[in-house]
Amino acid sequence: MAIAIREASEMNTIICTNLIEVLLGLSMVLLFGLLSLSKKTVDFAGLVTGVVVGSSYVFVGGLMAFIPLLTFFLLASAFTKYKYSVKMKRGAAEGKGGARSWNNVVSNGLPPFMFLILWRIFSSQALFLAFLSAIAANLSDTLSNEVGTLSHTDPILLFSWRRVPAGTSGAVSTRGTLVGLITPIIISIEAVPFLGLNWQLLTPIFAGFMGNLIDSVLGATLEAKYRCPTCGKIIEKRYHCGAPAELVKGVGFINKDVVNASMSAFAGILGAILYYLI
Ligand SMILES: [Zn+2]
Repeated sequence: MAIAIREASEMNTIICTNLIEVLLGLSMVLLFGLLSLSKKTVDFAGLVTGVVVGSSYVFVGGLMAFIPLLTFFLLASAFTKYKYSVKMKRGAAEGKGGARSWNNVVSNGLPPFMFLILWRIFSSQALFLAFLSAIAANLSDTLSNEVGTLSHTDPILLFSWRRVPAGTSGAVSTRGTLVGLITPIIISIEAVPFLGLNWQLLTPIFAGFMGNLIDSVLGATLEAKYRCPTCGKIIEKRYHCGAPAELVKGVGFINKDVVNASMSAFAGILGAILYYLI
């Protein structure tokens, strides 16, 4: 078992003590934050939250924690913008021109961060794999959604097995599923310098994909769906056509962000369990 990973116990505080690493990380946070704002992949609230979350990763985990986060962020931004007008026509695009806001940053950024903090406290390699798995799940889920909505055929809704409009929570497509399986490999490759070439690298791939699957299961079951009384559309937001919509399925407080955070946390826990099994 390769333990090339830098043990948290080698560092005497919970803060990353390598000054050059911290400065490099913080410069990247600011640089990519401002670039994202100018490219409109985040709005202002998203930028502020992103800078807080990104800096926290740098302080707690250094570059080995920040690089996977940055990879997720850049790929998610690029894929959200990719063929945006096509997704828009299908009603499957992210709102606000694809600009992510604070809620997206928090629901994707917080679960991996919890595992990062736990890793620094307990310095167990299982917790570092949990961190990587949670990020891998975010990447798998976001990219498979963004690519899946571009499929030529409509996706199939889990459990009801009907074809539903692209972008419906809980629906899966072949293309989206393949992308969800392949993309976590990127997170594993980035971990090679810290983990060495060994079987543990499979953990983020498997746990990340399982997180993606759980996201679809939750989306098809517990996630709140509403009907707009004005236009009759089934939607995932509480308001439509300028009026409150009525809850027709799922649990009221379980929105897309709650589902995202839950599946990322699930993937992390699964990653830690797999560490002891592999
Ligand atoms: Zn409406």
